[in-house]
Amino acid sequence: MDATLVMAEAQEGTVPLAEATLKTLAVARKIGAGPLDIAWTGTSLDPLLGQARTLAGIRRHLVFDDPRLTHPTADVMAALVGDLVRDYSHVLMPGTSFGRDVLPRLAGRVGAPAVSDVLEVLDPRRFKRGLYAGNVHAVVRVPDGVPVLLTVRLASWRPVTAEKEAQPAGIEKREVPADLPTEARFVGLERDASARPDLQSARRVVSGGRSFGSRENFALLEGLADRLNAAIGASRAAVDAGYAPNDLQVGQTGKIIAPELYMAFGISGAIQHLTGIRDAGTIVAVNKDPEAPIFKVADFGLVGDLFEVIPALLAELERQGIAR
Ligand SMILES: Cc1cc2nc3c(=O)[nH]c(=O)nc-3n(C[C@H](O)[C@H](O)[C@H](O)COP(=O)(O)OP(=O)(O)OC[C@H]3O[C@@H](n4cnc5c(N)ncnc54)[C@H](O)[C@@H]3O)c2cc1C
Repeated sequence: MDATLVMAEAQEGTVPLAEATLKTLAVARKIGAGPLDIAWTGTSLDPLLGQARTLAGIRRHLVFDDPRLTHPTADVMAALVGDLVRDYSHVLMPGTSFGRDVLPRLAGRVGAPAVSDVLEVLDPRRFKRGLYAGNVHAVVRVPDGVPVLLTVRLASWRPVTAEKEAQPAGIEKREVPADLPTEARFVGLERDASARPDLQSARRVVSGGRSFGSRENFALLEGLADRLNAAIGASRAAVDAGYAPNDLQVGQTGKIIAPELYMAFGISGAIQHLTGIRDAGTIVAVNKDPEAPIFKVADFGLVGDLFEVIPALLAELERQGIAR
């Protein structure tokens, strides 16, 4: 009989619920394969479960709550839920680096293929996924008789919203085995200290390219980002030149993002960069070359010098009282 398990992005009991989990739930609903359970792993999960219980259409919340699961490794996760996943026809994880690390291990355990980066559900066994940096969409089919295990391409989906459920789903505490794998151990977590929104989930992104010419100039984007409550992104050329840190790179070998607004300043619009913003809502481009390829995908384009446009834009936002 069909049943679906969503493996929530592990977190430290913090609210709100991770957007990655809510997007993965959206895919599970679209597939619609039998009753839907969510597995939560972490520690001090009660506040999070309080919020999770407002999600509609869930049969059970399966909870692995243990201090040793504060920062689980992929090995630990696979050992923890390796048997549980055998009860499901469909197992879904967010396409985060953690999800991409864990899911193939689970697929190996149940002898099924792992389908990564699902961007469209065609039916409960057929999915669309990107190939060659998103330039080709492949339709893949999981054969009958084996479970479907997949990761979700987060930029392609909208999160479900918490709805009031008349009868909230039950919570089942699950036992955590005494001996968990220890070969790979969590050493430390380095977080971006900035208070700006996270690049991958931000609704607005302002992004810069090689044309800024220096790290100091690149900081021009900070004022604009703060004013618009936006995340900062960068082209690979800007990253390679040392103007922006590696984790801000947008594109084929950087982050794939889908903000409502993407503003590209002095970015040429190479295919590898555009791969990262294919699902963006409105694209605004400022470039001094009217022939720059970015203008082919931009909804609004301005031919101009970014060193004049950004200060003018900031002054106008200030004049109109637009702050955050
Ligand atoms: C395998 C592979 C993977 C790659 N992955 C990525 C990736 O993930 N992300 C990515 O971004 N790139 C990636 N690239 C690199 C990509 O091909 C481009 O080289 C890169 O995106 C160019 O960055 P840029 O637009 O900042 O620089 P440029 O191409 O040098 O463009 C600079 C632009 O700024 C404009 N300009 C200059 N001065 C000003 C000014 N004062 N005001 C306004 N406009 C100005 C110019 O007209 C020009 O259009 C990859 C390449 C390869 C081969």
